[in-house]
Amino acid sequence: MSGTRHTEAKQPLRFSGIAASRGIAIGPAYRYERQLLYAEDRKLDVSEVGHEIERFDAAVVKARQEIEKVRRVAEQKVGSSASAIFEAQMMMVSDEFILSNIRQSVKHELKPAAFVVDREFSEHQRMFETGDNPLMRERVDDVEDIKQRLLRYLLDRKKWLSKIEVPSILVAETLTPADAILFARSSVLGFAIDGGGITSHVAILARSLGLPALVALHSASQQIEAGDMLILDGERGELIVNPDAETLREYEQEQSLAVGTSSITEAPAFESDFAGARTQDGHAVRVQMNLEFGSEIAIAEAERLSKSAMSGGSQPIGLGLVRTEHFLLLHDDFPTEEEQSTLYRDLADRFHPACVTLRTFDVGGDKVLSGSYHEDNPFLGWRGLRISLDEPDLFLAQLRAILRASARGNVRVMFPMVTTAEELVRALEFLEQARHDLRIKEEPFDQNMPVGIMIEVPSAAIMAESFLPMVDYLSIGSNDLTQYTLAVDRGNDLIAGLYQDLHPAVLRLIQMTADAARRGGKPVSICGELGSNPLATPVLIGMGISEMSVVPTDVHSLATRVTLLRQDECKLLVDHILDNAVSAEEVKRQILHFLVERELIDRFSQTALRTRSGARMMKR
Ligand code: PEP
Ligand code: MG
Repeated sequence: MSGTRHTEAKQPLRFSGIAASRGIAIGPAYRYERQLLYAEDRKLDVSEVGHEIERFDAAVVKARQEIEKVRRVAEQKVGSSASAIFEAQMMMVSDEFILSNIRQSVKHELKPAAFVVDREFSEHQRMFETGDNPLMRERVDDVEDIKQRLLRYLLDRKKWLSKIEVPSILVAETLTPADAILFARSSVLGFAIDGGGITSHVAILARSLGLPALVALHSASQQIEAGDMLILDGERGELIVNPDAETLREYEQEQSLAVGTSSITEAPAFESDFAGARTQDGHAVRVQMNLEFGSEIAIAEAERLSKSAMSGGSQPIGLGLVRTEHFLLLHDDFPTEEEQSTLYRDLADRFHPACVTLRTFDVGGDKVLSGSYHEDNPFLGWRGLRISLDEPDLFLAQLRAILRASARGNVRVMFPMVTTAEELVRALEFLEQARHDLRIKEEPFDQNMPVGIMIEVPSAAIMAESFLPMVDYLSIGSNDLTQYTLAVDRGNDLIAGLYQDLHPAVLRLIQMTADAARRGGKPVSICGELGSNPLATPVLIGMGISEMSVVPTDVHSLATRVTLLRQDECKLLVDHILDNAVSAEEVKRQILHFLVERELIDRFSQTALRTRSGARMMKR
């Protein structure tokens, strides 16, 4: 929202933004305008190519040195979790695929390196900007930072200044994480930024630095002059420019009262309304998060979300699926029991008291380990639990590591790709063996650690009843359930149109699973991407799914959708669909009709109405 200038200069002005980091700052404005660099096109002479590529390689080395320097400062100031932002930047500026593409373009297209850098990185930004993942959209600024660093060297421009002499509130259109860290070394009192969002890196860093910050102030920076007196209200999301004496006094009082309680820096406003994902008629849905193990950034973001839900008055959000195999994909060897136990324990600690669901390694299929051999049909081959059962030493080491992490009482274990009851019986024997090993060593663990299985193979859905006496819960893996039910490779874009997770055949298997769980008195959750599909929410609620685990960025929109629905109405919708629909198209039509009739379509659209997130599915 923009403010309105009063008749005289230096009259008070107010702007609303998003309170990204709590607290109140009072001080003069420091206007930071970083001039963005652009590169011009021209045709290189063939004789210039070698030198141009050398200049590019030198610029990459310089950019890496700078990022490393900022990373070190960040680590001292905010610790390793937030400094991981710069590790991600470092990875991008070291990505051989991107770098060699740029060299090739200089060589073959005879373009200046600066022009190619500008074009390639801008292309990455566009991809992030147009994706449906808000977290990715907010990474656009990180890419801009790398691009500008390289351009600065390639165009021979001077270093940017990031120093403030007098304690001031920094006002800028955008701010990169590196700027935020470097300014934090001088006298910055807070950040007032036109762009950004609650999960932008600047917001995350401001919270880590304990500095009040407002983002999404739109064009406020254009109406503020250097030296204007500012009140940055990170509690109410307001920026007051040149306040009157009375307002200033009130804020100074509030600020002095807040000293001592200022450690409560979490709980951004938008998450506090997450409380109780309950339908209008009181059916509770536990919303949880899927975590790709292995990325410190992803873990830190999920942890922040979990904690801020708690400080906003809700239950902390737990992890409904931890894909432990992602850790393996980043390393050449299997981690030892000790290494695994340290990692799992760290997660259990960070999310405590919320639950952490550790799925045993689901390698095979498209998640190929280096050194494993070629299979003609990997998705139907040596995958998931099948591998674990064939590799007792590895399986036992993982089970012992999981059990050791369970000592805090918030860990659940889950087996992937269960196809037959015999496999489950054998897996449970291994689990018992692992418990026995720990008892002998007198290592503490949770004797009642819940055990669950993924329902992601049609045979498991059809036979769900037979598994139930052996487990504590079921979790539906709709990604694989869809591919195995419809015989459509989930990662093959030639047949992407045939991959229909709302196909009635898939829905019937989910319904069978949910019915079996209800009869067996055990909870059933969903952790496949279907949980993120807005059209699926009424169907899953109507089927009685009590827990949904989605990527962290979808938690809020899913919880919002749950609160808009009535379970009794959703049940009727499901009955109607299962009785009548014979295609995914018909299912979608019926759901849309249901939403239109209840005047929910706009609200659902706002939570990113889409039939399926193809990009996400292609990732795996
Ligand atoms: C699934 O298959 O739906 C699932 C959650 O597991 P993954 O995507 O890791 O195979
Ligand atoms: Mg799966």
